[in-house]
Amino acid sequence: MINVTVYNEFLHERNNSAIAAIYPDGIHMCIKRFLETEDDISVSTVCVDDVAEKLTDEALKHTDVLIWWDHMAHERVPDEVAKRVQTAVLCGMGMIFLHSGHHSKPFRLLMGTTCNLTWREDGDFERVWVVKPAHPIAKGIGRFIYLEHEETYGEPFDVPEPDETVFVGGYERGEVFRSGLCYKRGNGKIFYFQPGHESFPTYKNPAVQTVIKNAVRWAKPDYRVDALVCPHVTIPDNG
Ligand code: ZN
Repeated sequence: MINVTVYNEFLHERNNSAIAAIYPDGIHMCIKRFLETEDDISVSTVCVDDVAEKLTDEALKHTDVLIWWDHMAHERVPDEVAKRVQTAVLCGMGMIFLHSGHHSKPFRLLMGTTCNLTWREDGDFERVWVVKPAHPIAKGIGRFIYLEHEETYGEPFDVPEPDETVFVGGYERGEVFRSGLCYKRGNGKIFYFQPGHESFPTYKNPAVQTVIKNAVRWAKPDYRVDALVCPHVTIPDNG
């Protein structure tokens, strides 16, 4: 069983009736429902109100893959929680950052850069092009995912050069954006996936759901340690 935890700040859906109409019980519950259609995935959820209490070291140790969506409340995630998440990734936990999670505290900690990008919200269509068709995260996607409306994110995206670029988004008015990026940090794997603006039903798109399911399986730990230490090693004289 792959234990997934979904963190969603869960504010837009409670403060805006148009967004509540798309995700009545929150983006996290939408993600939980489609992931739990898979027999090998089990999901728990955390929101901003209980993030400090629920995302403990112990909880992170039992999380194989943490999915992260936030936008208006990055600062309400305590620094110590972001640090805990960073440590858990270095120990081996997998991590998927969605959409505006590019500015979350843990993503910035793990990248070490501003993670700034350019953006506008005009309801453009997006084609999320597969640029690495042999990659496990692109399995079953075909040439591209068409999204009728998505927030436009554009380059430059101030992140370190990724280990692999799986998707590149192209928008109605010409912007391009590296929309699916893979990183390794310590023992952990990280996937950043750009689609998912709260005003559009992006997480109800079956192809987007497939990408997130694939990413969970890709990011799950292959090797994991309990703590980050420099072990002292002695080599016997006779080998
Ligand atoms: Zn957005």
